[in-house]
Amino acid sequence: MEAFPPLNPRAPFIWYGGDYNPEQWPRAIWDEDLRLMQECRFRVATVGVFSWTALQPAEERFTFGWLDQVLDKLAAAGCRVCLATPSAAQPAWLSQRYPEVLRADPTGRRRHHGWRVNYCPTSPLYRRLAAQMAAKLAERYHAHPALVAWHVSNEYAPACYCEQCAAAFREWLRRRYGSLDELNRRWWTRFWSHTYTDWSQIEPPYANGEGSIHALTLDYRRFQNEMLLECFKLEREAIRQFSPDVPITTNLMRFYRDLDYRLWAREMDVVAWDCYPSVEDEPLDIALAHDLMRSLRDGQPFLLMEQSPSSQNWQPYNTLKRPGELRLQSYQALAHGAESVMFFQWRRSRGGIEKLHGAVIEHSGRSDTRVFAEVRALGQELERLGARTLGGVTPAQVGLLFDWENWWALEDCSGPTREKRYLETLRAHYAPFWRRNVALDLVFSDSELGRYRLLVAPLLYLLKEGLAERLAAFVQDGGTLVTTYLSGMVDECDLAFEDGYPGPLRHLLGIWNEEIDALPPGRTNRLVLNDGRSFACGHLCALIQSEGAEVLGRYGEDFYAGRPALTRHRVGRGQAFYLACEPEPAFLEHFYGELLGELEIAPVLETPPGVEATLRQTARERLVFVLNHGRAPATVMLPPGRTFEELLTGRSLSGSLTLAGQEVAILAEPLASESSRRAGS
Ligand SMILES: [Zn+2]
Repeated sequence: MEAFPPLNPRAPFIWYGGDYNPEQWPRAIWDEDLRLMQECRFRVATVGVFSWTALQPAEERFTFGWLDQVLDKLAAAGCRVCLATPSAAQPAWLSQRYPEVLRADPTGRRRHHGWRVNYCPTSPLYRRLAAQMAAKLAERYHAHPALVAWHVSNEYAPACYCEQCAAAFREWLRRRYGSLDELNRRWWTRFWSHTYTDWSQIEPPYANGEGSIHALTLDYRRFQNEMLLECFKLEREAIRQFSPDVPITTNLMRFYRDLDYRLWAREMDVVAWDCYPSVEDEPLDIALAHDLMRSLRDGQPFLLMEQSPSSQNWQPYNTLKRPGELRLQSYQALAHGAESVMFFQWRRSRGGIEKLHGAVIEHSGRSDTRVFAEVRALGQELERLGARTLGGVTPAQVGLLFDWENWWALEDCSGPTREKRYLETLRAHYAPFWRRNVALDLVFSDSELGRYRLLVAPLLYLLKEGLAERLAAFVQDGGTLVTTYLSGMVDECDLAFEDGYPGPLRHLLGIWNEEIDALPPGRTNRLVLNDGRSFACGHLCALIQSEGAEVLGRYGEDFYAGRPALTRHRVGRGQAFYLACEPEPAFLEHFYGELLGELEIAPVLETPPGVEATLRQTARERLVFVLNHGRAPATVMLPPGRTFEELLTGRSLSGSLTLAGQEVAILAEPLASESSRRAGS
C-alpha cells in the first residue's frame, strides 16, 4: 500500500482550523478574529456553511461582497479556506415562495419552515437553486488564492415523505424491477393480500401506513439515500465545471445509520467527518469511528472536519473536555489517518440553538481562557510537527465487514429479537484487535478482500449478490473468515434464502442453521470449548448442525446442550469459522488472541492496558503513534535494538518509553533501516 499525496498540493500541512461564521458578526470583530486565529496557528477556515440568506437575500439578488472581503482577509492572514455551499438550510423566502421544497414528515404531512436539512431532496426547485448557488460560488472563487477545498452542504440526513418523493419512488421502482409482477414477486406481497395491481398504489412506508413489507422499507431507504446523494452530485458537478482541481467533500457523521456512506465516499474526493463523542464513548469507540472513515475510501487519509474544543450542547450531559483531552483526541485522529484537526466552531453564536456549543472564542470574547490556551498550544505543536505524518497509510491485515443495507434490514426485521445489536456486536469484535494494537480496516460488501488475511463478518444477515462467492474465493485462497449467528438469512429484497440458513454461505461454513433461540436479558447458556474452557453466552443462540465443519465448542445447557456452538470448516487453503451465539467478551479476547497467533499477525507495538498504538506508514518512514488514554504514567517497552526519533520532542528513543497520563508520542523510523534490519535478521 503506497502513501497518498497531499490532499491539496497548495496546502501540504496538517489542516488546523475550523468553522468560521463571520456573517453572524459585525465587521468590527473580523480583524480581531484574524489576529486570534494567527495566534492559534489556524491554517484552514471553513466558511459559508449556513450562509444562504446572507449570499442570496432574495431569489433575484446575490450579495457576495461580504464573502469577497472575508476570503481576502483570510488569505492576507495566511489562512486557507474550505469553502462551503450553504444548501443545508434554505432561506425563509425560498420556503415561502416554493412550499414544495419543504420536507414532509413520516406521516406525509408537510413540515413548516425552520431548522436545517428541511428540504425535499427530490424537489427539482431545491435542486436547481442549490446547484445554482454552488455554481455561482465556484465561478466567483475558483481562482481565489485562499481556496483549498469545497465543502458541499452539511451533515446530510434523510428522509422526506412528500408526494414528489412518492412519485419519484414509483419511477425508481419501475426502473429497478421492470414490471409490477416482478416487484410483487421480490417483495412477497401475497403475504396479507398486499399485492399491488397498479404502480399508483405504492406509497412510501409512512409511519401511519405500510410497515409490514420489509422490502418496501429497505427500498425506500435506498431511494432516499440515492436522492440525497444526487443532490450532493449536482452541487459537485456545478462546482467542478469552474473548479476542476480542488477537492470536494461533505461532512459525514460517524456510523450514521440512515445514509450508506460507502456509496457516498465513492463520490467524494476525500472523506470528512464530524467527531462528537458522548460521555459513554471510550477511546475504543472513537478509534473505531476513525477506522471507518479511513476505510470508506479504501485507506485514503480523511479530514477531521469538526470537533468541539470543549463541550457540545445537544447531548444529555455536555461534559467538558478535561485538560489534555482535546490534544489527545486530536492526535488519536491523526493516528488513525486524519490529515486535519478542525473545530466547530471558531466563535460561539450569541443566539440560536447552538449558543452553548463549545467554541474557541466563547461569549466573553477573551483569549485568556483555558480552552483558547489549549487550542493555541496544539496549533503551535502541529505547526512544529509539519508535514511528516501526511499521506501515511495503515497496512491492515484484518478486515471487519460492515454494511449499511445489512444494518437497515436487521433493524427492520421483526424477530428473533427486537435488539439486533449490530453496532454493539461490531464493537465487541473490534475490541480484541484494538486492545492488542492490531491494525484493522472496516471492509464493505464491495471491498477488495484479497489484501486481508483475516475477515470478521458478524451478523451478516442480508447477503448482497456475489458476496458469498467472493467470501468463498477469499477462503479458498488462504483467508480466514469468522462469521456469526443471523448470517446468510436474506437476499437484497429481504427474502429468506430457500434451502435454509446460512443460505449461500452454507457450503463455505459447512453447517446448517436449523433454529434460532432468543434469550431475554438475564438468561444465558454456556459455550464449552473442546479443551473444557467455558464461557457464558446468550442473546441469540443458533441451533446448528455440522455438514462437514469441525466442532470446536458446544452448548453447555438447555435442551440443545451438546450441539455445536463454534465450528471451523477448512476450505482450500483457508478456513471459515461460525460462532453460533453471542459470547461474553472474554471469549472473543481468547478466540481472536489464538487466531492472531496462529496467523502470525503481529501488533504494531505491545503496550500496557489503556495505551493505544497505531501505525501510519509514509513514503519514507514508519510512524508509530503511542497514546496514553489513562491518567497515570505508563511505560512501553520498545522493540530491542532499535532507535526511534520522537517527533513531538525531537528526542532519540530506545529501550523504553514512559508517557505521562494523556501524553502522546510519535515514533519515527526510516523505512530503509526497517528493510535492512529485516534483511540482517
Ligand atoms: Zn420529498
